[in-house]
Amino acid sequence: MTSIFSKIIAGDIPCYKIAEDDRFFAFLDINPVAKGHTLVVPKEEIDYIYDLEDELLGDLFKFSKKVAAAIEKVIPCERIGLTVLGLEVPHAHVHLVPLDSRGFIDFKNKVQLEKDEFVAIAQQIAQNFS
Ligand code: 5GP
Repeated sequence: MTSIFSKIIAGDIPCYKIAEDDRFFAFLDINPVAKGHTLVVPKEEIDYIYDLEDELLGDLFKFSKKVAAAIEKVIPCERIGLTVLGLEVPHAHVHLVPLDSRGFIDFKNKVQLEKDEFVAIAQQIAQNFS
């Protein structure tokens, strides 16, 4: 079955896109735990992150590093946390979450953002991606 992330990558479902290359795609989490909470996914649809080939897994982290650098330029934070959960969407992905001084990610505590805030945050992060 096609995952919701594959539909987003294909453009069949809208998202607040940050960046993509031939193998990876980054976009804002629709239900963020912090402003700038971003998901990075391999375009190849593989459920469990540890099933990714070593090279693809390594390159997912390299791509995530570039996305994190862009987020850091836009969202005031201590640093960018990187987490893997994967219990909701069966398509491997990492969460990049700006951390405040508590250094703590509470995935039960969501941040409500208006559509124009999502658009502005995604645009700013995308502009700082290189
Ligand atoms: P996980 O699989 O890592 O437990 O959680 C999946 C994450 O994907 C959640 O943080 C959820 O908010 C996010 N998510 C689920 N469906 C969508 C969607 O359609 N669009 C976006 N942008 N994020 C989604």
